[in-house]
Amino acid sequence: MSEAIPEYIDLIQAARKGCEFQGIINVDRLQRLSHYLAGNEGGFDVKVSFGMDDDNTPYMKGSASGQIRIPCQRCMEPILRDHEVLFKLVLVASGHQTEGIPDDIDTIIVTGEPAALINIIEDELILGLSIVEMHKPEECNASGFLLDKRAVPDSEADRKPGPFEVLKDFNIDS
Ligand SMILES: [Zn+2]
Repeated sequence: MSEAIPEYIDLIQAARKGCEFQGIINVDRLQRLSHYLAGNEGGFDVKVSFGMDDDNTPYMKGSASGQIRIPCQRCMEPILRDHEVLFKLVLVASGHQTEGIPDDIDTIIVTGEPAALINIIEDELILGLSIVEMHKPEECNASGFLLDKRAVPDSEADRKPGPFEVLKDFNIDS
């Protein structure tokens, strides 16, 4: 059974107990994330679970998904985007070495104080944001400016390709 997401939590104790939490976190509670958005309506469906790995390492993992409105960097009008992050954080007691933990493993330093769980989830949501968001040229209010290459130099070249754009370069038959 999942419980509602608490504001603060003892991370290590939650890992020992194997706690699971689930709930909605409204965007208007996430001040730092809101700073990047074009409005704070909506919320994220959040699931978090705690446990101990095989080698007795405590962890927290979970997911958060929802829709956000993010300003287009060309016309500044909002773009509605699905935003989903998956995370796993290894819990490291403060004072303990993080050496020996591979670089691709995310860690969180645990102090004796209860941790602000929603802040941790908010950090993951911010880390998952795209740095530059733009409308497709045909949907963008500022698309007229694109005709003048000098006004928007290389703007398309800076754009990260979406997963389907990458996939289309592969020949599925081969
Ligand atoms: Zn736009």
